[in-house]
Amino acid sequence: MGTAPMVVDLADVAADEDFRSQLRAFLAEHHPGRAPKDAGERLTWQKGWLATLFDHGVAGPSWPRRYGGMGLSFARQVIYQEELARARVPGPLGTGLGIVAPTIIMFGTDEQKERWLRPMLRGDTVWCQGYSEPGAGSDLPSLRTAARRDGDHYVVTGQKVWTSHAGDADAFFTLVRTGTPESRQKGITYLVIDAHAPGVEVRPLRDLTGGHLFAEVFFDEVRVPVADRIGEENQGWPLARTSLGHERSAGAMNQAARYRRVLSELESLARERGLLADPLTRDRLAYFEVRVRLIHYSAERTIADILSKGEPGASSSVSRLLISTFEQELHEFAVDLLGPAGLLAKGEPGSVQSARWLGGFLRTRASTIGAGTREIQLNTVAEQILGLPRDPAMPPR
Ligand SMILES: Cc1cc2nc3c(=O)[nH]c(=O)nc-3n(C[C@H](O)[C@H](O)[C@H](O)COP(=O)(O)OP(=O)(O)OC[C@H]3O[C@@H](n4cnc5c(N)ncnc54)[C@H](O)[C@@H]3O)c2cc1C
Repeated sequence: MGTAPMVVDLADVAADEDFRSQLRAFLAEHHPGRAPKDAGERLTWQKGWLATLFDHGVAGPSWPRRYGGMGLSFARQVIYQEELARARVPGPLGTGLGIVAPTIIMFGTDEQKERWLRPMLRGDTVWCQGYSEPGAGSDLPSLRTAARRDGDHYVVTGQKVWTSHAGDADAFFTLVRTGTPESRQKGITYLVIDAHAPGVEVRPLRDLTGGHLFAEVFFDEVRVPVADRIGEENQGWPLARTSLGHERSAGAMNQAARYRRVLSELESLARERGLLADPLTRDRLAYFEVRVRLIHYSAERTIADILSKGEPGASSSVSRLLISTFEQELHEFAVDLLGPAGLLAKGEPGSVQSARWLGGFLRTRASTIGAGTREIQLNTVAEQILGLPRDPAMPPR
């Protein structure tokens, strides 16, 4: 089958470059400066920045305008992410923007869209994902957190785990069991739970970096209005699949732009320390240069899928695999390159750039687990892109 030739409208290209300069000028004028060290102050600083973006109409590049977004074309979404990465401004808070927001836009009622989307985009409310449970990660349909109907409320009891940013959460978007314990994906409901409601308890978990990125979340007879259910009762599974696709593609372009910058910073560091004379180092850097470009093209494909089909297809798993592997390999290489100095912790005499490469090395150990493990992404690529036989352990699509 022939493909239509791509027509490049030069007027559009000029207008896009104009958009880039306006955005760059805006970011220079309103830049929030460096992040405060104190966690509480950092949260306020970050919220302040998200509000500035929203109030100036510069938030939500892919969101429809009617919900406060910018509704940008493909080319401008790419420019937007490149410029924000270049300016080193803080990113979104929580995990709602890239995961539940597209789900609400697709499946929520008009009232829910009005009530939830703008405050989420402005950073007034922080949303976090409560899917995984101690016995339900890759096999999410085995989840057990139960919601019992009581008039116009559900009463929710159970436990979630690995809930990123739960300590800052105002709302959890969760999957709960409303069917029988054996009902698997046929008895799952998509519920938004107020993080400040009585019966919600967040217990931080310490991770490899010494930080508390994620937490356990306990629900003990938490009352949730039926009005906070997205979609129908027992029909949350297709919504969860939409969410998961968006989770894998969320920020793909932003990460592509960020890693473009990070790789250039590593090259500069290698040059400063006289390490570029080694041909093996140059060879590895060339390898990463190729990879960072592939990440960019793959993210473009994911955005193109979203624009043409309304949701990311299996290509989001390709993006996720590329990025997670890249960031692990890049940080491993950086720590090796720096020799013993690369292993010194922040604050130690002789540590390099506040130990950012060591921090990245530790942080990215989890990259091939979060948002679906590497094996699960490989299964998706095998089945949905290469057409190989299905994994009998996974639920039907
Ligand atoms: C940094 C980070 C942040 C996270 N944030 C969140 C969050 O905000 N909200 C949330 O709900 N969850 C979150 N998670 C949880 C994450 O989604 C799960 O850890 C992940 O889905 C894997 O589930 P599991 O840990 O139960 O491992 P398991 O599913 O028990 O997997 C164990 C091992 O078995 C392999 N495996 C399992 N099934 C198969 C199969 N069918 N084929 C081949 N191999 C298989 C896996 O690849 C893995 O190696 C986060 C995890 C991390 C690391």
